[in-house]
Amino acid sequence: MKLLDYHCHTNFSQDCNYSMEEQCCAAIQRGVVEIAFTEHEDYNPDDPTSFYFQHGEYHQAVDRCQARFGDQVVIRRGIEISEPHRHPARVREVLSSYEWDFVLGSLHWVTPEINTYLPEFFTWLGDWRRSFERYFTEMIALARDGDFDVLAHLDYPARYGRHFFGDAYDIRAYEPLIRQVLQQLIARGKGIEINTSPWRRGAESANPPAVVLRWYHELGGTILTVGSDSHTPADVGADIARAIELAKAAGFTHLTRFERRQPHFIAIDALQ
Ligand SMILES: [Zn+2]
Ligand SMILES: [Zn+2]
Repeated sequence: MKLLDYHCHTNFSQDCNYSMEEQCCAAIQRGVVEIAFTEHEDYNPDDPTSFYFQHGEYHQAVDRCQARFGDQVVIRRGIEISEPHRHPARVREVLSSYEWDFVLGSLHWVTPEINTYLPEFFTWLGDWRRSFERYFTEMIALARDGDFDVLAHLDYPARYGRHFFGDAYDIRAYEPLIRQVLQQLIARGKGIEINTSPWRRGAESANPPAVVLRWYHELGGTILTVGSDSHTPADVGADIARAIELAKAAGFTHLTRFERRQPHFIAIDALQ
């Protein structure tokens, strides 16, 4: 199967130690025919990844890798912006200063003080269920106001803190909020991704679980990307074939690629 990986990091992200060249070699080995390097763009002063991404050098690295590997893998210029709805002026500036192919919008900091991967996210409102409610409520604002192309890892906190919620977390409890998120995205011509990272951490479901893909499909959503969220060569392309099967099972016949922020649809059958 030909694979697309639309969520990958390199050492232009503060939390990744591998070069774009190394990530490209891994992609080629694994059968990834198209890859988007979506580096962290954060503005929260408490986030170690903040203000780390050097855009000019990144674009030079993409030029270099396209010259070296371009006949084996298509490389897209991506960026993963944290909380784009809270930083509209900065986002406008970075998105207009360079030619980007693909913009992920992420909710990592549910408020400017609380990061979802820290234990306090699950305790700060007393009950972890209220934390998830607060998270999806904030996501409606992101979906409504943020400038991005695809919403990343829709239920990101489910990746972490499993010792707080065990098996009791069920995304269906938040269906009305998530439907509002999906409706906003569809109305604005934006999409969601299947992020395979939770599978590598032993979780049963990707971000988001299959049921959310079905809601999205029922509501008329068509823009869907797949991504590993890899921070290492070993994870490039990881479980992408499984994600494509999940998309198919939810009713999708196409996946989405992006070029200069325009969506293009590719038939899943054409990948097989
Ligand atoms: Zn992320
Ligand atoms: Zn990421």
